[in-house]
Amino acid sequence: MHDVIIIGAGPAGLSAALWCDELDLDTLVLEKNEQTGGQLHSIYGPVQNYPGVRASNGREFFEHFSQRLSEADFDLWTNVDIEDVDLKAKRIRLRSGEELQAISIIIATGVRRRQLGIPGEAEFVGHGIIESASRDRQDFAGRDACVIGGGDAAAENALLLADVCPTVTLVHRGKALRARPTFVQQLQSQHCITVFLESVVTRIIGYNEVEAVEILRKDALKPFQMAVQAVVIRIGVEPNTELFRGQLQLDDEGYAVVTNQQETNVANVFAIGDVSNPLAPTISGATGAGATAAKVIASRLGGRK
Ligand SMILES: Cc1cc2nc3c(=O)[nH]c(=O)nc-3n(C[C@H](O)[C@H](O)[C@H](O)COP(=O)(O)OP(=O)(O)OC[C@H]3O[C@@H](n4cnc5c(N)ncnc54)[C@H](O)[C@@H]3O)c2cc1C
Repeated sequence: MHDVIIIGAGPAGLSAALWCDELDLDTLVLEKNEQTGGQLHSIYGPVQNYPGVRASNGREFFEHFSQRLSEADFDLWTNVDIEDVDLKAKRIRLRSGEELQAISIIIATGVRRRQLGIPGEAEFVGHGIIESASRDRQDFAGRDACVIGGGDAAAENALLLADVCPTVTLVHRGKALRARPTFVQQLQSQHCITVFLESVVTRIIGYNEVEAVEILRKDALKPFQMAVQAVVIRIGVEPNTELFRGQLQLDDEGYAVVTNQQETNVANVFAIGDVSNPLAPTISGATGAGATAAKVIASRLGGRK
């Protein structure tokens, strides 16, 4: 029986684990991937908005976490495949057969990129579909690019590609971009960037590499093809809450609903970080929520320290 089992070892889960250690709670962290750190490994640009730390990318930022983690005393299992969770009973069954039990569970499973679900999307990953313009744009210098999405991430990627690509087409299904005003202004001032609003990409086309996208504009009867060699997809994220469906109260988009103590509708089950924060997902928000959950659990267990 553990005091706490934390599911997910991104910034939220790791912060909660550090606090649980400090508060003398017997803690087990379960991470499905081989490495911990979650989305930090997908940040290729600088991280400069976490107080006290400046890093040229997420991996470097994660090194600061890692230094502190090596001093902490909690159990961490990686490559874990959870088969099912009984939140009320606080029981977790792994596909490997083990059954785990805790007094409290902290859900810190974060979010994943939303997918379009269109032909070509899976086939061309790494063959013209770019993981990140920050990291990969030099490989596409001189090629025409298409960015799909209308938020900050889409705008940022379009602006980065505009430094090296002769044309960048931003395709967004909404009536207006959702990106912050400074990004929108920058997009408008770049002559090589064209924005198609109320439009969707219906297919990514090519042989071995991306050669074109098929775009359907609102009110048009038929889609048209546009030659591009690079595509970035940034249509938002979705929370990793499938495992808890039917037990956890979720909002319309599947995010965990929590109290101001990070507690879910199930007593002694907490949700922290991006999985319960659709409005302002940040590293500082995630680590703060981890601290809150750990402190609430410790106080309920009698404030042992
Ligand atoms: C490109 C990019 C740039 C960003 N830039 C910034 C920035 O400059 N500043 C900032 O503050 N934030 C930034 N963010 C956001 C920040 O990375 C997130 O807010 C933060 O990582 C959220 O932490 P988390 O622990 O809640 O979730 P995540 O980082 O998503 O971690 C969740 C963890 O849970 C694991 N997991 C999921 N499902 C299971 C399961 N079933 N079993 C076990 N483990 C599971 C995942 O593998 C992952 O390790 C950026 C994000 C991206 C993608």
